[in-house]
Amino acid sequence: MLDLTSMKINDNNDNNDNGWLELALSSNKDNVKNLIEIKDRLILAYKNYENIITEYTTNPIKSTFLQERELLKSFYEKAPKNLNRNLLEQRNEHLFEQCPFCGRPCKPSILDHFLPKDLWPEFCIFPNNLVSQCDKCSTKKWSHYYSDIDNSVKFIHPKFFNLLQYIGIQIEINFPSPESIKQPDFIITFTLPRGININDKKRLSLHIKYLDIKTHIREYITENYLYWLRVSEQKRYYVPDSLNQRIKESYTGGNNNRWDVALYLAMINNDFIINHFDSIEIKKEIQDHSDIKLEILTEE
Ligand SMILES: [Zn+2]
Repeated sequence: MLDLTSMKINDNNDNNDNGWLELALSSNKDNVKNLIEIKDRLILAYKNYENIITEYTTNPIKSTFLQERELLKSFYEKAPKNLNRNLLEQRNEHLFEQCPFCGRPCKPSILDHFLPKDLWPEFCIFPNNLVSQCDKCSTKKWSHYYSDIDNSVKFIHPKFFNLLQYIGIQIEINFPSPESIKQPDFIITFTLPRGININDKKRLSLHIKYLDIKTHIREYITENYLYWLRVSEQKRYYVPDSLNQRIKESYTGGNNNRWDVALYLAMINNDFIINHFDSIEIKKEIQDHSDIKLEILTEE
């Protein structure tokens, strides 16, 4: 479902973890003195980040930086120049063609604080805590993090776990009223390769549920489906051929858009839809022939 190959954790060994903090500390921002005072505590907190993320069945202890929250947030929200350049680079100059959280085909334009910055302000400018995200996921994730009901964190960190790339999508299309090709009912199913352990399955289903990924997919494929109906109405070309071509491209790596491919497979396997495209094709042929101007041949 998801290509996370360009998602890299900053390596603990090359001290990149502290790189953004160093930029903040060396700036001439008005409140930098206050940041210098808590520098050592921050570096200690950074060392504990990975533990918090990997111990996802434990509700993390409350931050000890809540009193310094506004100070820490100001270095993200009104970041000094050099740090801001790095933040913008991470937000805009990535190679993702899909949202790392949900797989939506788009260039994600939001930097999410995986540990929410109001609850853990110490990780405001910690590079591994900032993850690209699409706007749909952003509105769902927001500052939610741990669920007491499920005894687990709600979301999977794409930099620390590769689980999300195992999710596949299958789509089936039904038509509640057969006369309405424009009102399909999409049944969306998530699939996993065999052998995924029960714990990981639970985490994946929480992630899907709390981000409401099914709704995102439904909105996206509905728009895409209606686009192909419009194309067929304009009689530009035979739509099933185009869909097949795109599916083929996905097998050879030319098309990495899982949501589209799942939709196209559902469409070409649906008799009602294929009949619809065929009937348009037949009308088109009749029309093409009727366009030929005929002359009267007079008999000699
Ligand atoms: Zn997303």
